[in-house]
Parts: sequence; C-alpha cells; structure tokens
Amino acid sequence: MITIAAPREPAPETRVALVPEIVQQMVRQGHRVLVEEGAGTASAYPDSDYATAGAEVVPAIDLAQVDVLAHVTPLPAGAVHRLKPGAVTIGLAGPYDEARVAALAEANVTAMSFEKLPRTSRAQSMDVLSSQALAAGYRAVLEAAIRSPRFFPMAMTAAGTVPPAKVVVLGIGVAGLQAIATARRLGALVSANDIRPDSAEEARSVGATFIEVPVDASEGTGTGGYARALGDDAAMRQREALAPWIADADVLITTAAVPGRRAPQLATAEMVAAMRPGAVVVDLAAAGGGNVEGSVAGEDVKVPSARGGGEVTIVGLANAPGDLPTDASRLFAKNVDNVFKLIVSEGGLNVDFADDIVEGMTITHEGINRLAPPAEQAPAQEASAAEAPAENTPAGAAPAHEAPSAQAPGGQAPPYPTPAQGEGMDGAGGVVVDGMQTEGEEGAR
Ligand code: NAD
Repeated sequence: MITIAAPREPAPETRVALVPEIVQQMVRQGHRVLVEEGAGTASAYPDSDYATAGAEVVPAIDLAQVDVLAHVTPLPAGAVHRLKPGAVTIGLAGPYDEARVAALAEANVTAMSFEKLPRTSRAQSMDVLSSQALAAGYRAVLEAAIRSPRFFPMAMTAAGTVPPAKVVVLGIGVAGLQAIATARRLGALVSANDIRPDSAEEARSVGATFIEVPVDASEGTGTGGYARALGDDAAMRQREALAPWIADADVLITTAAVPGRRAPQLATAEMVAAMRPGAVVVDLAAAGGGNVEGSVAGEDVKVPSARGGGEVTIVGLANAPGDLPTDASRLFAKNVDNVFKLIVSEGGLNVDFADDIVEGMTITHEGINRLAPPAEQAPAQEASAAEAPAENTPAGAAPAHEAPSAQAPGGQAPPYPTPAQGEGMDGAGGVVVDGMQTEGEEGAR
C-alpha cells in the first residue's frame, strides 16, 4: 500500500493535484490517500467529496508518512525537508530554479517534474504542460471576447451586417491551437504565426490563415519539437512581417514560449499602439517575461491607440488554467495518476530509469541532481533527514506549502512561463483540439 497525498496549494493558486474521482480509483487499488483540508475548495471539490471517495481529509499532512506527494506548484524547501528520504514528488517542480532542485536533491527526494516530461506519444496522457495549455488557450479567447467592444461572429441582421472580428494568434503550440479553435467557434476570422515549420499545417487544420514570415526553418527549430530563440535579425524580420497583421486585428493573442528561456517579445509598444481603438491584446506569456511589450501579469494595461484617440487593452494573464480550476485540476489529476501508475508495482514504489518517461522527468534521486552535468552529479550532503531543521522533524505535521513566493503565481520562477498548459485526453491519451485528436509522433518531438 502506497500513501499518496495532496496538499492545499498556496493562494493565489486555485488548482489541486488530486480530484475525488482519481482518489476513488487510487483507494480502490488499495492505496491510502491523504488530502489536506480545503485542498479542493478553490477548484470546487469540497472536502466531503474527497472523504466520500475514501481519502483521509486531514488538517495538516504529516509529510513523514507520505510515499508520494502530488502537487501543482513547486514545493518550498521547508516542505521538501519534511518528506522522508526516498519519497517521490510528482508535480510542477520548477526545474529551471537551481535552488529548488538543490533542495530536492539535498532531501533525498525523488522529484518527478512535469516540466521535463518527454514530448512523446506514450507520454501524452501525463502531459501537464499540454493539459493546462488547453485550458489557457481557451480562456485567453474568452478574456478577449468579453473585453472587446465588438462581436466575434459575423451577424447579418435587418439592422445591417456586422463583420466578423479579426483575431491574430502568435505561437501555435497546444495553447495557440486551442485559442484558434475557440476563436473560430465564436465566428472570428483567425490568422496565426509560429516559427516551427510544422506549425503552418497545424494552424490551417484548425481553420486559421498562416502568416508567412521570412524566417528559415533552421532558425526557428530547436530540440524535442520545441522552438528555439530567434537571433536579433530573425526576430526583427518576424516583427516586421507581423506588424500589418497586428495593426489590422481586433484581437491579438500571444502564447509563444521557448522552454527555459524568457518569452520572446513579438509585439513592441509601437505595434500595439498601431491597433485600432478598442482592440484587445491577451498575453499568455505575461508571467514569463511577456510576448507583448508593456504587458503585466495579472493586470489590464490600457495604452493609447495611435489612430487618433481611444485605447488598446493589454491583458496579462497570470495563471489562465487557474481561472478554470475545476477542469484544469481534473486533467492535472489524471496526468498525476498516469505517472503514479508508472512508478507503482505490486511490491510498492518502483522508479525504473529504464523507462524513458521516468528517466526524463526525474530531476533528483538518491541525493543526486540529475539535471547537473555528469561531473557534478555527486550525492548532495549526506542524508538530509539527520540534518533537517529541528522544527521540521518528521513527527511535526504541517502544511506542505508555505506562504507563496513573490514570483510568478504558484511560485514558479520565471523565466519559464507559468506552466499553464492543457490537453484534452480521450481514452488513447491523445491531445484533442477542437474535437480532433492530433497524432502524436513516435519519439521526442
Ligand atoms: P510551448 O508552450 O513551448 O510554446 C508555444 C509555442 O510558441 C510553440 O509552438 C513555439 O514554437 C512557439 N514559439 C516560440 N518562439 C516563437 C516565436 N518567436 N514566434 C512565434 N512562435 C514562437 O509549446 P507547446 O505547446 O508545449 O508545444 C511545443 C511542441 O510540442 C509543438 O510542436 C507541439 O505540437 C508539441 N507537443 C507534443 C506533445 C507530445 O507529443 N506528447 C505534447 C504537446 C505538445
């Protein structure tokens, strides 16, 4: 029997790592599930539902009893040091923050980080970045639509014809595809750009016009199916090509990201000011540095339109999946459960590095920081349990999360944007965009 736990995440995070439906399945499989009181309240899963599902709902989780801790936001060092050596954590671990990774290694924790999950077909059912991006892309369009002074669909009425809104989407990953699909469902005309060569076909397949920019495939293609950061010259060519499309748009939605890097700036203040009065810009990358000059995470910023008066609104979304916490948590918990199944065998926990998914997402194990260059992979200081601060002794049950850090929502340190990202999964675990399952390619993408 494995003891798995889910803490109450620190505000302003609204999501939770386990939902009652998944708890029930785990309990049926013979596991013990601990849930901190109020863990699901902000995502509309009451304590009573967890209790009905078979969880022990406790005022504070005794981390020393926990074999597997499922979490949404990166764990603070204080909580990490209260885990028993060898415990497994599954969540957004903040692997780009060296201090966080060092704390996990020092505590002898086996930390599995969704940010490092391989992008393979088999891993799709565990892909938190995708599942949360799905929610984020959908939400971005709704945020724009509600602020826009215009209809999205064309309306032909006795009082005249209203033309459809023009929406530009930049970044055609999971969030961008979902944004295109959502804007199309609302009746807008959508055009889109990305620097990955495959993105043109992907955009067209969900109904967008692809905006061609003079950037070579080699300039925009990185490893593992991700984009690479463009050089200054290519970035300038891209901005020049995008400028007229943005100036003509009623809505601009940006979702561009390069893992581990500051978000690329795709729209300058001048390009935004060239939009017409009433135009709305939604920057999903605001927490990771912003795709749009002047965007602020969690705020609406009004800037003057250069077209003779009026304003353009720049919406900096801080944690878009957290604005849809019921379904974002449902998907997140399913992703956690699929990783959990990977590391549990009849005999108990079995973290097997022969499995490429386990290998890829485990960032610390037995005191080793597995992200460090091989030469530096010596075990961290000897057995952290003995060195744990006195107030963190195993007997001391305490909230897993301390006060949130002042960084991005959920304590995820920039430069990587709040790993907001989503996916809809069907039984096969494929990414679903607009009711259509995209084929995952074999191997890393
Ligand atoms: P992401 O969140 O890292 O980035 C969002 C998008 O921004 C990407 O499409 C990227 O190409 C784009 N981008 C980066 N710099 C840009 C720039 N300067 N201008 C315009 N666009 C820019 O991406 P993601 O949603 O995680 O998806 C990345 C890739 O991984 C995609 O090819 C996606 O289809 C693939 N993917 C594969 C799987 C899988 O097979 N399991 C799962 C999810 C995504």
